[in-house]
Amino acid sequence: MNTSLWLRWKLPFTLFLLGISLIALSSQPLSSLLFKHDVSVRLDNLYSFYQGRYLKIGTEIDNLVERLSFTCNEDDLAYLRDTIEQSTVIQLVEIQSKEANCSIYGHGISLIKEQDETDSIVDNSYRMNSYKVEPYFNHRMKLSLYMPDTTLIAITEPFQHIFTESETCKDCIAMGLENEGAFIPLYPRDPSQNYQHIGSKKFSSKYIVHIYATDRGIRFTSQSDLFFVQLFLGSIWLSVCLIIGLRRTPNRTLKDLIAQGLKDNEFVPYYQPIINTEKQRVECCEILVRWQKSSGEIIAPNQFIPIAEHNGQIIELTYYLLNYVADQLKELPTTETHFYVSLNVIPKQLEDNDFAEQVFTIMDNFDISPNSIALEVTERTPFTNLKKANAVINRLKHRGIDIKLDDAGTGYGGFSYLQELPIDTLKIDKMFVETIGTDDVKSKILNSIIVFGQNAGLKLIAEGVETQEQVDYLHSKGVYLMQGYFFAKPMPFAELCEFYLSARDPH
Ligand code: C2E
Ligand code: CA
Ligand code: CA
Repeated sequence: MNTSLWLRWKLPFTLFLLGISLIALSSQPLSSLLFKHDVSVRLDNLYSFYQGRYLKIGTEIDNLVERLSFTCNEDDLAYLRDTIEQSTVIQLVEIQSKEANCSIYGHGISLIKEQDETDSIVDNSYRMNSYKVEPYFNHRMKLSLYMPDTTLIAITEPFQHIFTESETCKDCIAMGLENEGAFIPLYPRDPSQNYQHIGSKKFSSKYIVHIYATDRGIRFTSQSDLFFVQLFLGSIWLSVCLIIGLRRTPNRTLKDLIAQGLKDNEFVPYYQPIINTEKQRVECCEILVRWQKSSGEIIAPNQFIPIAEHNGQIIELTYYLLNYVADQLKELPTTETHFYVSLNVIPKQLEDNDFAEQVFTIMDNFDISPNSIALEVTERTPFTNLKKANAVINRLKHRGIDIKLDDAGTGYGGFSYLQELPIDTLKIDKMFVETIGTDDVKSKILNSIIVFGQNAGLKLIAEGVETQEQVDYLHSKGVYLMQGYFFAKPMPFAELCEFYLSARDPH
């Protein structure tokens, strides 16, 4: 039970472990993917927030320049304040000249400082129309219009970062504006760290926003998303594996068990003697497989043979039994040359020339005469290619291997196969033998099978003989080969040896 449970869940469990390891190993590409997706959504939001505003900077200042006298008179002050009030993007404007200096806060109040040393190591400025544009403190931009003796300076609103400080680590994410090849670092990169370009978005015909991040930034920012995505993928994979496990049908599980049983040599041939009642001797033995589990439990063939026949494992099982039996036969305490064993095969095996070759090889390997074995073919599945079967059976017969038709009259082709195939023996099924002494209509069929067999010159073996009455009746009809519990049940090889010795020497 435990092995069957393990066999059923082995594949889904292995798949689950593989999937989970893959999900765990893919943390890095996954967090990078999540981060990129997050950045792209945030850039879209930022775009809707800023849309159009930065386009107007130039025009707003152009309008102001047209109205200013640059003397810092009251009108100039009013124009400066006007511009700030109406603009959504300009935060501060100042006129700086030799004669006058004023800002929106009044005469002589200059608020705009020169950049400090560290910021100006790299000259990030560039020209936009007649303005010099450069980054300014607190993620703003400074636009300067230089005229003879006078400079008009405007400072923009701070450019919003796509991540707040609490969402990411320090110096992990950088942001810059690109304008016609020039670059303004609004959130500058820390020169001691490595950044990779994560995404960009065109904000206007001139400006493109670029986002950069360090590996730590990617991990830090996406770690909670990563956890939930991995949890989600893990639970989906768990469900898939559970479905795979639950869908593994008992047949499939039995197939795995049979394969395992073959590996562990759990299949054992049992021998059931077939008696020649006329000559009072054991004519041959039918090989009937038993599945002997390590627990000691013995499983009857009807519980696994139909599945092995259906899925093709019967082919391996037959070779296995043939090797097993060929090895044991040398130990049998008999010198009688007529003795042979009879193995059950299915039509498909008799349609395959390789099967015949393999049988010969095994017999040669064990130095056993092919006369020592016969094959009985069941009719549970039909022959599909009688021409091929004919050739293979003839080849087997040529080397001395007899072919019997098992359970005659109960299966597919019935007696029609007998006309098509070179079969030597008919095994009369127990179903007919057990009608002896009854008024079952099938008892008439028994007589017809016997008459048919005798007329066709076939050897007849009666199966399932359990009573003296059946023995006597079969004798009266000229049937002398009998197999059944009346004589012996199928038994392991050691018991067969004893049976043989006592049959030879009844005292
Ligand atoms: P089968 O070939 O018709 O074998 C005869 C079955 O009848 C055997 O059942 C045998 O134990 C049983 N039997 C024999 N004498 C008597 C009797 O007097 N009374 C009763 N009630 N039963 C009797 P078993 O061993 O359970 O095998 C069942 C079937 O499994 C076999 O039927 C055969 O078709 C199949 N089988 C067994 N071993 C193999 C194998 O190695 N290969 C293939 N393809 N089939 C096998
Ligand atoms: Ca049989
Ligand atoms: Ca049979």
